[in-house]
Amino acid sequence: MADRKPSLKVVSLGGLGEIGKNMTVLEYGDDIIIIDCGVAFPEDDMLGIDLVIPDYSYLTKNRDRVKALFLTHGHEDHIGSIPYFLKEMNVPIYATKLTLGLVDNKLKEHDVKAESYCILPGETVKAGCFEVEFIRTTHSIADSVAFAIKTPVGIIVHSGDFKIDYTPIQGEAMDLQRFAELGKEGVLLFLCESTNVEQKGYTMSERTVGSIFEQIFDDSEDSRIIVATFSSNIHRIQQVINSAHKHNRKVVIIGRSMNNAAKTAIELGYLTVPENIMIEPSELKNYTPEQLTIITTGSQGEPMAALSRMAASDHRQVEINQLDKIIISASPIPGNEKLISKVINELMKKGADVLYEGLMEVHVSGHAKQEEIKLMHALVKPKYLMPIHGEYKHLKQHKELAKNMGMPKENIFLMSNGEVLEISRDNAKVVNSVHSGHILVDGLGVGDVGNIVLKDRRHLSQDGLMIVVISVDKEISEIVAGPEIISRGFVYVREAEDLLDEAKNVVSEALDRCSWRKNTEWSLIKAAIKESLREFVWLKTKRSPMILPIIMEV
Ligand SMILES: [Zn+2]
Ligand SMILES: [Zn+2]
Repeated sequence: MADRKPSLKVVSLGGLGEIGKNMTVLEYGDDIIIIDCGVAFPEDDMLGIDLVIPDYSYLTKNRDRVKALFLTHGHEDHIGSIPYFLKEMNVPIYATKLTLGLVDNKLKEHDVKAESYCILPGETVKAGCFEVEFIRTTHSIADSVAFAIKTPVGIIVHSGDFKIDYTPIQGEAMDLQRFAELGKEGVLLFLCESTNVEQKGYTMSERTVGSIFEQIFDDSEDSRIIVATFSSNIHRIQQVINSAHKHNRKVVIIGRSMNNAAKTAIELGYLTVPENIMIEPSELKNYTPEQLTIITTGSQGEPMAALSRMAASDHRQVEINQLDKIIISASPIPGNEKLISKVINELMKKGADVLYEGLMEVHVSGHAKQEEIKLMHALVKPKYLMPIHGEYKHLKQHKELAKNMGMPKENIFLMSNGEVLEISRDNAKVVNSVHSGHILVDGLGVGDVGNIVLKDRRHLSQDGLMIVVISVDKEISEIVAGPEIISRGFVYVREAEDLLDEAKNVVSEALDRCSWRKNTEWSLIKAAIKESLREFVWLKTKRSPMILPIIMEV
C-alpha cells in the first residue's frame, strides 16, 4: 500500500552557495517552521545597494502555514532580515535572551512590532507538529544555540554557527553530551555549518586572544590602545575591558553599532563593566595616552565606520598619532581584504603601530574547523547530511569530510537555495525547487532595484552620461534651441569643447537626415540621434556613455 502520509520537506531560501542571508524552512503537512532570517552584504557589482535579503515569497504565499521563526544566534547573517520579513508576515519569534535583545534593537529602529519568546538552552518549544529543543553551543557571540527538532519522521539537528570552545569567556561550554544522546537516539538529518571546513585542526578558544591582549597591554606603557572588532563580539569586548581594567585604563566605546550592542549586553548581563571605567568620547582629552583604551567599529575597513574615519583624519574625537597602538581584532570577511588593507596602510602612515591577524594572534574564528566538525558528526551520527552556511566550495569540502568518515555519498545532499529535500524515515531525495533568490535593499526601497536599474548604474558608473537637449517649435517647423549637450562622468567638459561642438554637429546632421519636420515619431528621431552620436563618440574616444536625447516641444 502506498504511504499517503505527508513527508518532511527541508529547503533553504538562503545560505547555500554563499556566506550570508541564512534562512532554512522545515515543512510537514500544514506546518512550516523557519530557522534564521539573515542578510547578506552586497556584491561589488550591486552598486548603491545597502543590504541583500532572501526572497521569501515562498513563505508569504504560504503564510497561514508558518508557525514560528527560530533563531540560532544574533549575528546579522541570521537575524538581519527580520524587520523586513515581519513587515510582511506575522510570525512569533523564539530565541535566547541576547539574540532577542539584538532583534529588539533592530525592530525598534524599523518601528516593527513582534511577538517574541525568550527560551533557555535545554528548553523545548512546540510549533505545529514540530518540537524544537534549544541546545547550548559556543560561537563568537554569546547565547548561541543549535536545534534538535522532533518531526513526525525523525530527529533533525541544525548546528547553527558554532565552534567547540571548552573554556568560553562567559557561561557554560557547548552541551556536547546532549548531541551524544541525540546521536544514540538516532538522528535522521544533520544540517551542519561549513564556514571553516577547509581548515585543518581546531579553532582556538576565545581565551587565547585574552592572553595576547594581556601581552600587548603589558608592552604598551606609553601608548593609547585602540581595538577594532565586530560590535557583536561581546566576549572580545569583555576581554579588552578586563585588560584595560587591570592596567588602570579608561575605556571609550566608539561607533553606533558597538555602542548599541554593548548597551544591550550590559543591560542583559552579558557584559560586566567595572565601575567608573567607561568614559565618553568627549572626555578623551582629559587623559594621557597610557590611561586610555578605545574600542571601535571598523574592523572590516567599512568606509563609514569609525576606524576608517580615524585613518582618514575624519573623526571628530580621535586623531591618530605615533603614540597609538591599534589592534585589528577580526579577520576580513571575504571581499573586505582591500578595504581593511587600505585602512591599515593609512593608520601606519600616521605613525601608529598596527597589530593585525597574521602579525599576531589577535583574533580567533567563531567557526569550527575540520576536527570540531568531525567531532560533531561523530556525536550526532546522522543518517543524512545537508551541509549549510557556506559557499559551494565549502559545502563540497564538507561532503568530502563526511565521506571520509564513512558516510555513504548518496546520503549527503549538496543543495542550492530553493531546492527541496524530501525526507522520510528511510529515504531522502531532492524533489523540486521553490522560488528563491535575493531582494535588494537601497535606502527605504525594498525590492525596487532590480537587474535593469543595476545595469543602468553599472553603465553610468563605467561610461558616464551624455544628455542631448533640443527644443523645437512644430508650428513653424524650427529648432528654436539646441542641440545642447550636457555630460557627466564622460569627459571633462572644459577640456573637450571641440569634441562636444563636433558632437552637436553630428546631432544636427542626424536630425536633417531623418527629416524631422515631416516625421513626428519622436521615438524614431531620438533613436537616430542616439545611433549617430554613439558611433561618433566611439570613433573619437573608444567610450560608450549612456546617451539620453530630450526633445522639447515649445
Ligand atoms: Zn553565520
Ligand atoms: Zn554567526
